[in-house]
Amino acid sequence: MTAHTHANCENLLSSLSEYIDGGLSPELCQEIEKHLTGCENCRVVLNTTKRTIDLVQQPENQAAVPEDVRERLFKRLNLDDYLKPSSR
Ligand SMILES: [Zn+2]
Repeated sequence: MTAHTHANCENLLSSLSEYIDGGLSPELCQEIEKHLTGCENCRVVLNTTKRTIDLVQQPENQAAVPEDVRERLFKRLNLDDYLKPSSR
């Protein structure tokens, strides 16, 4: 029953990992933060992604998690999954 469109979310989530990495311009960060304030869906995704990244980036895990596994993990995080349910 929500009028929430996922157009913005899709946009946002595609730059989410860059956002977490701090690779986005301040303007974009602001835009994302603004969207996050109003969109619980994206907040959940952000938290999940962050938690996963944190986990992988912990020094004691870093040794245990080879580079390619980390990369695969990022792909496994496939953010599209979060956007699927409402269409079709
Ligand atoms: Zn959103």
